[in-house]
Amino acid sequence: MPDTNQFPPFIKLLNLSKIFQAASMQFIALSDITTDFHQNEFTAVVGRSGSGKSTLMNMITGIDKPTSGRVIVNGIEIHSLPETDMAKWRGENLGIVFQFYQLIPVLSLLENVMLPMQIAGKFSHTERLDRAQKLLNKVGLQKYAQKRPYMVSGGQQQSTAIARALANDPPILIADEPTGNLSSGEAEKIFNIFQTLSSSGKTIIMVTHDEDLAKRARRVLKLVDGRIVSEKRQASPPSLGNPEVKP
Ligand code: ADP
Ligand code: MG
Repeated sequence: MPDTNQFPPFIKLLNLSKIFQAASMQFIALSDITTDFHQNEFTAVVGRSGSGKSTLMNMITGIDKPTSGRVIVNGIEIHSLPETDMAKWRGENLGIVFQFYQLIPVLSLLENVMLPMQIAGKFSHTERLDRAQKLLNKVGLQKYAQKRPYMVSGGQQQSTAIARALANDPPILIADEPTGNLSSGEAEKIFNIFQTLSSSGKTIIMVTHDEDLAKRARRVLKLVDGRIVSEKRQASPPSLGNPEVKP
């Protein structure tokens, strides 16, 4: 695995704060977060429920705006982008994976993976088909392309969601509790897919409750009450996962 420290910061968070205002109450969800994520780096974000993990992801994806502070991705100050540019930027730069997969039930797995390419107006129909099939192969679902989401397991649905997130080949993957709804065996497979993707050049930020999985990421960033309390980078993670999963 390459040494991530040789790369310049790819995602930079500067003095990021988020305050939710409800009636007369103020709630500080993120407090003065400054950190960065290198290209190729696999970061696990941990912390108790309510510690601000999802809020932090929403700042990086541009789904929500910080109260103050800056998010700079590959030199672009994302919260200064107008909404239409933001949507385009997100489509080109980010793949997002959620806890509950959010696949479209009436579409086959293959069609689910093709959808972001159609939305982006990228590639010809034949190329979309070919790319989607290759992405499904990559996550071990070559035989399931024509199935609908309800016909396959939770782990297979999440693998499809990862393939979909990769559809337009974004440099960054953000996953918020991607294994939160899965058995430990399924979680292991999903984690191995992320690890392989990270080795092949993707920048990955994965929120997880699972401390054992988190420890195996290159870097663990821990939040307590909206603050970073540790952000260890290790020279080489304890396990590189299942070598059978090929990119
Ligand atoms: P986590 O993902 O770590 O469980 P969140 O980022 O979802 O935590 O939430 C952090 C805190 O911010 C929680 O206390 C939550 O109740 C609060 N919060 C999140 N979103 C909102 C919102 N839209 N309005 C008000 N409070 C919110
Ligand atoms: Mg959350």
